[in-house]
Amino acid sequence: MRLRFPPYDVFKELFDPILEDLHGGYKPSDEHKPDLNPDNLQDGDDLAPNYVLSSQVRSGHSIRASASPHVPHCSRGEHGAREQLAVELRRAWTWPATWPVLALKSMTQAEQQQLIDDHFLFDEPLSPLLLASGMARDWPDAPDIWHSDSKIFLVWVNEEEHLRVISVQKGGNMKEVFPWFCNGLAQIETLFKSKNYEFMWNPHLGYILTCPSNLGTGLRAGVHIKLPHLGKHETFPKVLKRLRLQKRGTGGVDTAALGGVFEVSNADRLGFSEVELVQVVVDGVKLLIEMEQRLEQGWAIDDLVPAQK
Ligand code: ADP
Ligand code: MG
Repeated sequence: MRLRFPPYDVFKELFDPILEDLHGGYKPSDEHKPDLNPDNLQDGDDLAPNYVLSSQVRSGHSIRASASPHVPHCSRGEHGAREQLAVELRRAWTWPATWPVLALKSMTQAEQQQLIDDHFLFDEPLSPLLLASGMARDWPDAPDIWHSDSKIFLVWVNEEEHLRVISVQKGGNMKEVFPWFCNGLAQIETLFKSKNYEFMWNPHLGYILTCPSNLGTGLRAGVHIKLPHLGKHETFPKVLKRLRLQKRGTGGVDTAALGGVFEVSNADRLGFSEVELVQVVVDGVKLLIEMEQRLEQGWAIDDLVPAQK
């Protein structure tokens, strides 16, 4: 059954061409195929740790019948209701241990800053897109975070998305990070379903997230990677584009890379499965490291530049 998702259905004529352009030619008749089986990922346990500082996989999820954070009628009450629901479900969840829910409003400035510096916590929303869309209206009233003891698995509530599911760890072992993400997400979805809640999803658009650029998997898999030579090389933007990767600074979206350290992650979200997107990152990062090593020796990299697909 094709479920309706305003505004994507009501404004279909407007959105179809936008989504086609935004998501690499994704057609109105295309179907999104998920794959959250981490065993299907090839390699990924061997991204050189002297280049790859940390590895992360995240996605966002919207709770059906709850207002999107940026719609005008998303009131403080809506945020509060989602916070209560998350706390209630968290109490019912025993996998793999009981972790407390930490509310942003109850943290000291120092605790908050430490979690941000360690890349475990969202920063205050400063992006003009987020501010202009009104998603920070009640900040920091109801955003919360849960994390596992080792902090490899985290859940954010009421940030840019209703829920963000994140797995992150120092070093380059994506083969360890990805299963945490897949298993944790499966557990959370089961828990929501057991209480008659579900995530917004449909076969054409996949998971429905706050931003149209995040439809589909909503997945961003990425690494913080040291590329002091390649990062300055003229072909770097072209190489990333052809590998279907994107770069940011390590402070997140809208930050600049410092000291040759970049965040590199998948550029696509829709029309590819979760496994395919993580594989793109694993394979692409290996090539970036090979290029960086060549440049360290003063050698040419022309033969390594991937062809336009
Ligand atoms: P998103 O599009 O996922 O919202 P942001 O750019 O807002 O991305 O980043 C969210 C947070 O995740 C930031 O604090 C960022 O530093 C952190 N992050 C992203 N990738 C990694 C990574 N590979 N290792 C550690 N932290 C990361
Ligand atoms: Mg963000």
